[in-house]
Amino acid sequence: PSAEPYPYPHVPVMLREVLSAFAPLHVTSYLDCTLGAGGHASEMVAAHPELLTVYGIDVDPTAHTLAEPRIRAAAAGREGFGLRLLRGNYRDLRPLLGTVSSPPPQPTAILMDLGVSSMQIDTADRGFSFMREGPLDMRMDPTAPLSAEEVLNTWSEAELGRILRDYGEEKLWRVVARRLVQAREVEPIRTTTQLVKAVGHTQIGGKLGKGPKGVHPATRTFQALRIAVNDELRRLEQALPDAIAALAPGGRLAVISFHSLEDRLVKHAFARAAGRPTPEDEHRTYGADKFAFLDELEASRVAVLVGNQKPVLPSEEETARNPRARSAKLRVLQKLGGSGD
Ligand code: SAM
Repeated sequence: PSAEPYPYPHVPVMLREVLSAFAPLHVTSYLDCTLGAGGHASEMVAAHPELLTVYGIDVDPTAHTLAEPRIRAAAAGREGFGLRLLRGNYRDLRPLLGTVSSPPPQPTAILMDLGVSSMQIDTADRGFSFMREGPLDMRMDPTAPLSAEEVLNTWSEAELGRILRDYGEEKLWRVVARRLVQAREVEPIRTTTQLVKAVGHTQIGGKLGKGPKGVHPATRTFQALRIAVNDELRRLEQALPDAIAALAPGGRLAVISFHSLEDRLVKHAFARAAGRPTPEDEHRTYGADKFAFLDELEASRVAVLVGNQKPVLPSEEETARNPRARSAKLRVLQKLGGSGD
């Protein structure tokens, strides 16, 4: 029996790979931009006896409640250890770090483990899971204004179609968007069960339901709504350059993404910081002065990619054990300067 709001502990994704990304560094301070239940953070504390300061950002105050005792237990007896819990969006990591000290601290290691936590999914009344009856909320930040219910019942069919296609990678986005609009015309869609029912009408090749990999037909709709409600891609795109800027010289940033659009944003932000052109740059590259542009990019280089240009993937053993790890990709970057060069 437990008084904890979430019944299941979060299993940190790609833990071994994250720890080895930071293993070569002398990590005196660590910023976790997605603290969650503190799984990665407490393991970082355990793996780095030199680690004295942990900053933990999360939009969800429940995360801090769960993470704090876990991190403190990992640091038990470590003299001078400090934990700063920062409640807010990682998009605001600059001002959040600014509240700690002036000038703001420069962490040696920064982690972003994107998306939703298993505790959030497992809490029925937050509406993240099609397997649990609950209101269609899906806000990671309980004080944010927009809920999934509002998106579903007020956005146009075209907008719903766009998020289903782009965020949900739903091949049948037109069909599903139509169904959602038809369902809400009968009565507003207010619960996860109602939403599953509305999507469940979708026919794939004459058959009801299951996608090619045996995923539940509502999976992609739930994902699309969650990404839209939390404006996840824009927040990430805004946060990446600031996370790179916040790093101490020689420090490393590791990002675990779960969606191809997220990974693309990480890849491009990293490429740019490493002085390499991104696809968005290409048309500029072919403009009037291609070489001047490349020189400019090289001159603005602040970091190098760790490993190669390809992301690190979870082991087969991990994906077998934890289905949530299946789509995970890890990219690591090292800031220039410091002793790491
Ligand atoms: N690494 C954590 C662990 O091992 O326990 C789990 C992190 S979980 C996958 C992601 C967490 O990031 C969630 O708690 C979520 O509330 C938080 N989060 C998602 N987007 C955020 C954002 N834009 N700003 C701050 N926190 C965010």
